Amino acid sequence: MQSISTDALILRVQERGASDKLLTLISRDGGRFYAIQKGRAAKGREAAALEPYTLSNFEFYEKNGFKWIKSATAVETFPGIRYDSEKLFLAAYFADVVFELSDEKTPAGEILPLCLNALYMLSKGGHDDAAIKAAFEFRAAVLSGFAPMLDACDRCGAPVAEDVYLDVMNGVLLCGKCLARATAMQPLPEVDETGGRNILVPLTASTVAALSYIAAAEPRRVFAFRLLDGRSANTLSRAAEAYLLHHLERGFQTLENYKRLVAIRKQMLKN
Ligand SMILES: [Zn+2]
Repeated sequence: MQSISTDALILRVQERGASDKLLTLISRDGGRFYAIQKGRAAKGREAAALEPYTLSNFEFYEKNGFKWIKSATAVETFPGIRYDSEKLFLAAYFADVVFELSDEKTPAGEILPLCLNALYMLSKGGHDDAAIKAAFEFRAAVLSGFAPMLDACDRCGAPVAEDVYLDVMNGVLLCGKCLARATAMQPLPEVDETGGRNILVPLTASTVAALSYIAAAEPRRVFAFRLLDGRSANTLSRAAEAYLLHHLERGFQTLENYKRLVAIRKQMLKN
């Protein structure tokens, strides 16, 4: 029986029947696909190679239209995320976004290296997890075809200053003056004429610089940006998340889980 060998990132692991496992995988050339791990309990190294969010080299054989895992060897386990539940929850969210932005039998494209780089940054530590999340989200939105225009105010052409807003649905900037003028004439409706929601996120000039960088950076350099102040970091987080979720027109349970965990941690630190 002919076997196939490929490196693939594990997006999901689900129980299948009494003892088998169904893995959702993504590889560079093959895109998203499924494979079954037979019931025998994997031990030690092979068990580590079958953990979610691990990049492993798999050998499969095909039978009855399914891929069956013959062997798995870990290529990159991202050890730093394994004992930190916040990082692990973020990894689950990243995997869900990759699932959403990939297809079967279609090469994975840049979303796979983007996710691997994000997992690497999470695992390595020393970086703000919220900034890694924001860069992943914003770049993922750009990859899925929603590149924003961040050069100047979309209405008057004024250069980016401190008082600036991201019009999430249209992917453009609005300066404070234009926003004030627009809302003075008529309060901004919750829903615009096309039925889309109007979402404006206030930004700082430093946030706009970071968003522009994330959108255009070389794939390997997406996470190599620096924010100067806490307000910029907060607005970056809000803008990137809103931008991705509204363009994908959906939420993610894994994102809700992550946010709940962060909120609980914060509450515990207060007490
Ligand atoms: Zn303007």
